[in-house]
Formats: sequence, structure tokens, C-alpha cells
Amino acid sequence: MCQEKKNRKRRFVILGGGPSGLAAAWTLVQRGHEVTVIEKELHCGGMASTFSRGNFRFDLGPHIVHSPHTYLIECLRRKLGNEFRKHDSVNEVYFNGCRVTYPFSGFGLLKVLSLVTAARCVMSYFSRRIQITFKNIFKDDGSYHTWLVNRFGAYFFDIFFGPYTEKVWGVSTMDLSDIIAKRRIPVRSLHALVRTAITRRSDYHPENSGSLACYYHSQGSGKITEYFHDEILRHDGKIITNAQLRHLTVNGRNIVGVEFFVPEQGIGTIQETNGEHGEDELIFLSTIPINHLIRYFGESVPEEVRESAARIDYTAMIFLYLELDTTDPLGVDILYFSEKEFPFNRISDVGKFSRDMVPAGRTALCLEITCTEGDAVWHLGDQEIYDMCLGPLERHGFLTRKNVLDYHTRRLTHAYPRFRIGYERHVELLTHYINHSIDNLRTFGRQGLFSYINTDEALLMGFEAADRYSY
Ligand SMILES: Cc1cc2nc3c(=O)[nH]c(=O)nc-3n(C[C@H](O)[C@H](O)[C@H](O)COP(=O)(O)OP(=O)(O)OC[C@H]3O[C@@H](n4cnc5c(N)ncnc54)[C@H](O)[C@@H]3O)c2cc1C
Repeated sequence: MCQEKKNRKRRFVILGGGPSGLAAAWTLVQRGHEVTVIEKELHCGGMASTFSRGNFRFDLGPHIVHSPHTYLIECLRRKLGNEFRKHDSVNEVYFNGCRVTYPFSGFGLLKVLSLVTAARCVMSYFSRRIQITFKNIFKDDGSYHTWLVNRFGAYFFDIFFGPYTEKVWGVSTMDLSDIIAKRRIPVRSLHALVRTAITRRSDYHPENSGSLACYYHSQGSGKITEYFHDEILRHDGKIITNAQLRHLTVNGRNIVGVEFFVPEQGIGTIQETNGEHGEDELIFLSTIPINHLIRYFGESVPEEVRESAARIDYTAMIFLYLELDTTDPLGVDILYFSEKEFPFNRISDVGKFSRDMVPAGRTALCLEITCTEGDAVWHLGDQEIYDMCLGPLERHGFLTRKNVLDYHTRRLTHAYPRFRIGYERHVELLTHYINHSIDNLRTFGRQGLFSYINTDEALLMGFEAADRYSY
């Protein structure tokens, strides 16, 4: 991009008002560009937003910020002040009727596994290592199942990782890519687990919050995106919420207009007025799900690209919030549940993250239930979800219905990209089409790249996307 173009005042349309879209918009408005954010929900913030209900505040699942990029943390601390503070989250796994610290340590695991089970885990691990050494068929084949069994042994996989993963991702571990294991499991093998037990040191891993300083805003994770949102408006940026995208109009290699519908306001458009890609040219920065983005181009998209867009999918999530008449019912910030008896993957205690999120003498729990948009679980009513979750919680003595003052749910259609084996081919085809067929469009962020990134990376992607077009 030539220097003159980068300095010129330009018109940007940002699709999606989550952390990545808002970070890009914020950077651009400060440099004097004309920016419009189009967001489908009533409020911005995406998956990292916070909402209020009565005297309670809720995140969409526990959201702490940790980053190897210390300058980003410093920047957030300067912008958000003292309320953005260090928070050491204490996490455990409930397994076999016992609790073990998470991320796992060797000693912790020994506490919940009987000696016989521990011995079977070790034997199964060594037998797999021997098989890998002598037989090619046991080598990594790209599946989650093989990657885990090769590093932890089949026995430990069957009692822990297998059931948990199938519950979280909703598909067989044979069909899932090993990228999930590489990305989500902080300890790399049974051998590393034993090493951490001896040295009591863990390496940096994005999922191992213990390896970095963690931060949380006392009013919820949504305060980060709220800051960017307010600053965008203060610098005359425009944010259109509750907007349903209808169509992107392409002329040659450029998008020259976007049409959207806002209930009670009607159809809106943003267009290049001179019909050519001239002085008033538009630049589109998209952070919406990449397969949805393709749909807005209509029939002009090649068949194979549309097919790839239909082949990738996301895990949806239902959050069940329980407002309680008590505090600290779990004794930890986050409790993970690997066993299938529990329909939820984990529970976080909102009041443990910050007492400012809940009224005095009370707390709220957030239970995460993964499913697929439109499936049987997705269509369950709040009462059914409540009954389904309360049963095991009562049976295992965590709380009783008498403790629950109120309950309610929230749903996310695109919580996690579902990394089925071979997904890379489809994502590559989609990004190749966007990058090589359309000159004034860039896709980034968690949904825009179909990637498993945290808030820090989403913000950095937004800053970087803006830098690409302006100083
Ligand atoms: C349960 C859960 C827990 C998490 N915990 C953490 C944590 O502890 N720490 C951490 O750093 N990260 C965490 N994350 C990840 C974090 O939420 C994401 O990395 C971050 O929100 C990604 O930002 P984004 O802007 O790329 O995407 P999103 O937040 O998904 O934002 C995309 C935006 O686009 C909008 N949109 C979608 N389709 C359209 C459309 N057609 N038209 C207009 N707008 C559209 C959406 O409504 C949304 O506002 C968690 C995520 C989940 C699901």
C-alpha cells in the first residue's frame, strides 16, 4: 500500500462489533477515517461482552485476559484504570467424585486416580510409546484421538480426554483435528505431566492461565469492548447495531456497496457514490463468520467456494446462569466436568471473578453447555435446561434448588470453530477467494479466520488490520 494512500482519509465498513472489529474501528477513527461498524446484535462486544440483569452482571462464560504481549496488557491497564486488575483464577476438574487442580499436575492426578488406575495409565502409556517406535500405523495421523493417545496412552484418554472432548465439541474425537489438542491442552504428554510434578514449573501455553499474569475488569470482560465502543462514537465513528446484513454488491474486483436491514428503521445502504472505485472508495474489514461472509456475495461466488463455506461449522453454546442466595458454592473460580453425567462442560463462579459483579451475600454461577445450533439441546426451554443441570448438581452435593433465586439462559451460535479433520482445506479456499478475488476486503478475528484465538489476539488482529490501511 503506497504511503499517499495510507495517509488519505478513507471510508471503512467494519462487519462485526466484537473485540477484533472494534479494535480496528477504534484505531481508524483516531486517525481521522470515516468508519461505520455494522453489528447484528443489539449491543457490541461479541463473545467478550457483559450484560446486566437486576443487580447482577454476567459475562458470556469466564473471560480473563492473559497475553504474552505485555505492551497490550500495559495499553489496556492505561485505558481501563485500576479496575482492570490482576486476577489469579483457581481452577479444578471434578472427576471420579474428587477434585484435581487444573491445569493438571502429576501429584494432583494421583490424588483422584486409585493406584490401580494410575498404574494402568502408566502401562498403557508405555505400551503406546513402544507401538509408535516399531509400527508406522500408530504415528500421528492428524486426528485428535491419535495425538492424545500417543502422548497420554489409551487408558487415560478413555477415562478423561475422550468423554470430555466429545462433550465439548459434539463430534467423535476420530473426526476432530489434532489442532484442538495442540491448542487447548497445556501439558504436552504424560511424561511432561510427571516432569511438572517434579519441577513444579509449567511452560507458557495460551490455555494455561497459570503461566502468565491474568487480568479481569471488576465490572466484567465487556468493559474492554465498551471502552473501544465509546471512544469510536466520541471520534465520530458510526455504529449500527441490530443490523441484518442482506447483500454485498461487487463490481469487478471490488465491493461497492452493502445493504442491511434494521428492524423498525428499514433498509440501509453504504455505497461508493461515483460508482467507480475512486476517491470515495470503501474498504471492508470483516470479522463475521467467514462462511457467512461468502453468502452475502450471492451467486457470483464459484461453486467450490460455496461448497467449502457449507462444509465448515461451529459449536454453539448455551449459558445457564444461576443466581444464588449464597457465596462461593464451588470453592474455586472454575470447575470443569469431564464426565458425561454432567451435561455442562464447566461452571464458573461470577462472584469469584469480582464481587462487583454480584450483590452482597450472593453469587451467580455460569454453566456452559455445548451443542449445535438447531439441534435438540439448542431447542430446549430454560426450565428443561435448568432441570437437566440441577439434577447432577444436587446429586453431587454442590447446591440445592433452594439456593437458586432465579435462572436464565443466553445462547451463542458460533462459540468455537469446529475443527473437523480437513477443515484447513476449506478455510484456505475461502480465504484465498477473499484475498485474491476481492481487492477491498480483509477478513480477520476469531470468526473471520475460523481460528481459536483469545481476546488479546483478536484485539491485536484488529490493530494490525487497521495499520495495513493507514498510519
Ligand atoms: C465460552 C468462552 C469463553 C472464553 N474465555 C476467554 C477468556 O477467558 N479469555 C480470552 O482472552 N478469550 C476468551 N474467549 C475468546 C474471546 O471471546 C474471543 O477471542 C473474542 O471474543 C474474539 O473476538 P472477535 O471480535 O474476533 O469475535 P466475536 O467476539 O465473535 O465478535 C464477532 C462479532 O460479529 C458479529 N456478527 C456475527 N455475524 C454478523 C453478521 N452477519 N452481521 C453483523 N455482525 C455479525 C457478532 O455478533 C459479534 O459481535 C472465550 C470465548 C468463549 C466462547
